[in-house]
Formats: sequence, structure tokens, C-alpha cells
Amino acid sequence: MNTIPHWINGSPVTGTTTAPVFNPATGQEQARVVLGGGTDVDAAVTAATTAFETWSESSLTQRTQVMFAFRQLLVEHEEELGRIISAEHGKTVDDARGEITRGREVVEFVCGLGDVLKGSFSDQVSRGIDVHDFRQPLGVVAGITPFNFPAMVPLWMHPIAIATGNTFILKPSERDPSAANFVAELYRRAGLPDGVFNVVHGGKDAVDAILTHPGIEAVSFVGSTPIAKYVHEQATSHGKRVQALGGAKNHAVVLPDADIEFAANHITAGAYGSAGERCMAVSVAVAVGEAADALVEVLERKAREVKVGPGDAPGTEMGPLVTKAAQERVENAVGVAATQGATVVVDGRGLKVDGHEEGFFTGPSLLDHVTAEMDAYREELFGPVLAVVRAESLDQAIGLINANPYGNGTALFTASGEAARRFQRNVKVGMIGINVPVPVPMSFYSFGGWKDSLIGDSAIHGPDGIRFYTRPKVVTTRWPQPTQQTAVGFEFPTSN
Ligand code: NAD
Repeated sequence: MNTIPHWINGSPVTGTTTAPVFNPATGQEQARVVLGGGTDVDAAVTAATTAFETWSESSLTQRTQVMFAFRQLLVEHEEELGRIISAEHGKTVDDARGEITRGREVVEFVCGLGDVLKGSFSDQVSRGIDVHDFRQPLGVVAGITPFNFPAMVPLWMHPIAIATGNTFILKPSERDPSAANFVAELYRRAGLPDGVFNVVHGGKDAVDAILTHPGIEAVSFVGSTPIAKYVHEQATSHGKRVQALGGAKNHAVVLPDADIEFAANHITAGAYGSAGERCMAVSVAVAVGEAADALVEVLERKAREVKVGPGDAPGTEMGPLVTKAAQERVENAVGVAATQGATVVVDGRGLKVDGHEEGFFTGPSLLDHVTAEMDAYREELFGPVLAVVRAESLDQAIGLINANPYGNGTALFTASGEAARRFQRNVKVGMIGINVPVPVPMSFYSFGGWKDSLIGDSAIHGPDGIRFYTRPKVVTTRWPQPTQQTAVGFEFPTSN
């Protein structure tokens, strides 16, 4: 059986402890992945520290050229990488290609590095004195990423870190590790020097080694909220910069004036796309007033039409869940919702896909009359379950969203500009869609939620990404003429 190795200093590195990697569509173990620990992290830090000495001195032109070449390789190998992701994650190949495209946009953002890294200059702040600033890389930085976007989420991090002159250690999810090694190979072919991009596989041991290693300057994390809090606490207490993005419960509000068919179509795709395993998935539809019955009727029809199957089969719209445990957890949650009083309008439990009876499939589930007290509302289910909550007014819907501990994404479906403006101004959520169900910001904006969806203060990619991976220097300069005499006093310097 294939063993997926670490990638350290431009070479594969094996290990003795391994974990299974499944094909979620068949339920079969298809590979093993090495599980790293302190020794492997140490080796990666040593390689990355050495590489930093030269990479941090490379020119903007050289780094930009590597990024252009890397971008081109991502285009050429999109289908291949998409199939690798689909086989380990379960999502459809088209969906996987979509995440590669969205990740590639971050590479495109740093292809304009020369512009993004420009500093500022102030002439003659005092007589004969100028001030300018510029930014420098931190050193060795690390990224710890979740299973649900094995290409895109790491791509939110490493292109910016590397383009700004840092060296990088990626600790991907152990459930779908192969995409990280494939990306390492593309970087090598793009001309990136050995040791600049490294991959250490593993679980908690590898993460803990990263969080405490004195040679790592900063940690980027994306995953569930409890682990985001843990990573933030541990890494900051070890003197590192941290950006830590957590879980979500995203509400889509539908007002009575919305085009109900349009809204239901988009909410269905946002809820069941990637089997609901997206941090921006729509997991709650808030139906306001008389929108409710009509909306539920269309949502039911759409949920029943979703084509569930293996991610590499033509025509599949929704694949399996990532693990058997996830399948069981989601199906159990639907049962609990029913006992707590929700109406199970569409029941996805027990779905069998012909020829894939052992796969981790569950069908789309639609729950109506869900209330804020029920587990199906309170917990992030991370599966194809859409909960409909009924509200009397837009303000009540906003109150519901604001009382939720998460604040990642939200959407409003309406024909009213006034309602849209009130919604976007009052809702305590980081990313907002107006008639857009999954409002993932473009790479030149930063991605990040509020409240428990983002721990600390740094969002990811865009301007926050550049700031996170660099430190500013402000230089005050005077070039006196040889003959010039300046009176020097002992008081604190002020300008004149
Ligand atoms: P997870 O938190 O279980 O794992 C994320 C990473 O942390 C993995 O690399 C994993 O190996 C590591 N990890 C897991 N348990 C750990 C522990 N006890 N100690 C140290 N490290 C540990 O998340 P997941 O299940 O892989 O991904 C799904 C979660 O990620 C969902 O909550 C989803 O909302 C969230 N997510 C958030 C965003 C966002 O942008 N806010 C994006 C994608 C996913």
C-alpha cells in the first residue's frame, strides 16, 4: 500500500508511525500517511531556517517569477489535482477544481507582489529629514489546515508567506494529505529552492511540536473553533504571531419580497454542495414571514433532486462525507432534531449508492420548524443538513444571527435595497452576501469571520495576509551637507 511521506528540504521523508487514508466513496483504505512529531518538525525547521537565509535575500523579480510559474502549473494540473482531492475528500472533481481555482487566485494576488509590497515615503518631514517604511519577512512560518479544502486553504497561506520572503512548513489534515505533496512537487518544478516549502504530516503531535518550536515565528490555522482557540493560546504563549480561523453556522435570510425560486436554488447549492463540508456552507435558512411555506416547498423539491454519488462520476452533485464517523455523527444529528421537535421534511439518512454500499454517504436532509434551542441549530453539523428557522421580521432574523456564537458568513435574499443596507450594517458577521449565498471574498480582500469564527485579530489572505507575514520598519533619514552645522540639544527630538 502507498505510504504518503513528508516533504522536507525538497525530498520525501518517510516515518514509522502511519494512519489510514480512506476513499470515502468506497469506504476502503487506499493509502497510509506518515504521522510526524517533534523530530520531523525539527528537521523541517532546520531546512526552512537554512533556506530562509538565501530566500529572504532573493529579489522581488525572482519571487514573482516563481509565483507566475507555480500559477501556470496549477492551471495545467488542475484536473489531476482535482482527482487527487476527490479521491481522498469525497467531493466532486468539479468542486475540487473550483477550490483550486479559488486558491490559485491568491497566487495571482502575489504575482503583483511588487505593487502589494510597496512602502511609503514622506519627503522633508523636518528640514533635511525624510521618512520611509518597508516590510520584511518574519522567518520560518507554519500553516495547520483542515480536511475540507486540502488545496485552497493552504493556498490562502503559503503563496503569501513565500512571496513575501518567508519559508513555510505545512501541516495538512491527515484525512486528505496527498494534495500537499502534489503542491510541493509543483513548487519544485516552478523553481522554488529546496527547503522553502515543506510538508510535515500528522495530527496532534505534529501540531504541538509546531506550536512550541522556538524556530517558528508565526502560525496560521484554519479548522474547528476548539482547536483554533487551543492553537491561538499555545502559539501566542510561545511568542508567535497567530491567525486562527474557526468553525461556522451560516444563516441565509429570505425575505417575502425575494425571488423564492432563485433563493431556494442558491440555498440548496450552498447547503448541500461539498456535502455541507464547507466553512461557508449555508446551514440555516431563516424564512421571514410569509416566505416560509413557499420556501420550504421549493427547498424540499430541490433537496430531493440532488444527485448523490461518487465524486468522480459524471453528473454527481454531492459526494460522500469524509469519514464514517462524520456520516454517523450527521445521521445521528438528524434523529436528535426529530426527537427535539423539528420536522424532518427530507430525511437523508440510510442512503445507499449502488456499487458503493460501503461508502460514507448520507443524503441531503431538510429540517423545518427548527428553533434556536435545538442541537441542530446550536451545533456545527458540517454535513448536508439544512435547518429552516422561521422568523417574523428582518430585525428578528438579525437578532438570531447576532446571538449565535459564530459569525463567519451570512446571506440575505431580498429585492429591497433598504433591507440589504440594514442587514449588512447591523449583522455581526465578517462576510456578507446580498443575494449571494456563499460570499467568499476575492483574494485581494481578506477572508475571516467574527466572534468564534476567528480567534485573535488577523483574517487571512489579502491585505491582512501581507501584514501577517511581514514586519514593518520605519526609517528616518538625514544626509547633512559636509559643511552644515546643526544645533544639537538634549531635549526629546521634535520636528521643525
Ligand atoms: P479540525 O479542527 O479537526 O482540524 C484542523 C487541523 O487541526 C488539522 O490539521 C488537524 O490535524 C489538527 N488537529 C485536530 N485535532 C487537534 C488537536 N486536538 N490538537 C492539535 N491539532 C489538532 O478541523 P477539520 O475537521 O479538519 O475541518 C473542519 C472544521 O474547519 C470545521 O469546523 C470548519 O468550519 C472549519 N473550517 C473553517 C474555515 C474558516 O475559514 N473559518 C475554513 C475551513 C474549515
